[in-house]
Amino acid sequence: MTLGPWPKRVLVTGGAGFIGSHLCERLLEAGSRVLVFDNLLTGRMENVAHLLGHPRFSFEHYDVTNYLFVSGELDAILHFASPASPADFERLPIQILKVGSLGTHKALGLAKAKRARLLIASTSECYGDPEVNPQPESYWGNVNPIGIRGVYDEAKRFAEAMTMAYHRHHGVDVRIVRIFNTFGPRMQLRDGRAIPNFFYQAIRGEPITVYGDGSQTRSFCYVDDLVDGILRLLRCGHVGPVNIGNPNEMSLLEMAKKIIEITGSRSEIVYRPLPPDDPKVRRPDITLARRVLDGWEPKVSVSAGLDRTRDYFVEALAREAKSSA
Ligand code: UDP
Repeated sequence: MTLGPWPKRVLVTGGAGFIGSHLCERLLEAGSRVLVFDNLLTGRMENVAHLLGHPRFSFEHYDVTNYLFVSGELDAILHFASPASPADFERLPIQILKVGSLGTHKALGLAKAKRARLLIASTSECYGDPEVNPQPESYWGNVNPIGIRGVYDEAKRFAEAMTMAYHRHHGVDVRIVRIFNTFGPRMQLRDGRAIPNFFYQAIRGEPITVYGDGSQTRSFCYVDDLVDGILRLLRCGHVGPVNIGNPNEMSLLEMAKKIIEITGSRSEIVYRPLPPDDPKVRRPDITLARRVLDGWEPKVSVSAGLDRTRDYFVEALAREAKSSA
């Protein structure tokens, strides 16, 4: 599928977050005007500080579960506002449900009013603890709606349902990306997810916490590949969910060992209880992405991505230690 033009003016909700801030950067490079709404619940000004002086960039401290007002023309909206770490599922359950439901509703309303294309950030969590591996988009998932992960899974499943309803009923032009595990610079140091935890612990010489026996698998994608895929999806003609991720599946124990090795750490591995409903396997089937995203393919190997992420963690932790000294 050939790709359409870059948007002239884009709203990125959650633009101060990990993935959101990388999207803003790439959009600015491509010549778009970028407006960010973020309430900084899990996003950080630090992620966009270097963009603040840019003539085509603006930031508004705003909670997107409220009515969205944007003056002037807008041709695209990227709805990326939401806490996304399992550590947040217990800490911020209501906020997660609200931004996935009310926030998506507001973003759809704005897209309808502006005749803008809306791309929503969905997730591999839609598949829950999957009974098929790898997961194609046609798989409906195995989700516990009332479990602790349910707040995120169901918020995103609702967001997809609402997005497709606006598409069918109001003709809104929509795109849905199902994001699989992603890592890279700008993840929060205490984000709580496996890769940030392992780097944080390894660099500080603390025990590496592997949940369960570490045999559960994930497939980790470097953020640049994800962002490249998302911006292609925005510009392609495919409506409906598309998985984006790197199908390079590995166990969490393998990942813990890799991070110990590349940080030269002497940390030991300790085993902690597996959280409820933790998916046993996860791997994206990216056949559809390969077909519709004009030759997109993950290009950064997990090793190369981990090296860059290590450098970020080493530097960020050193900076933090210096500022608290
Ligand atoms: N995990 C772990 N140790 C940690 C954090 C997470 O073993 O310190 C495990 C977690 O139980 C899960 C996997 O790593 O099986 C990936 O967890 P993450 O929080 O990164 O995201 P998820 O893929 O579960 O959404």
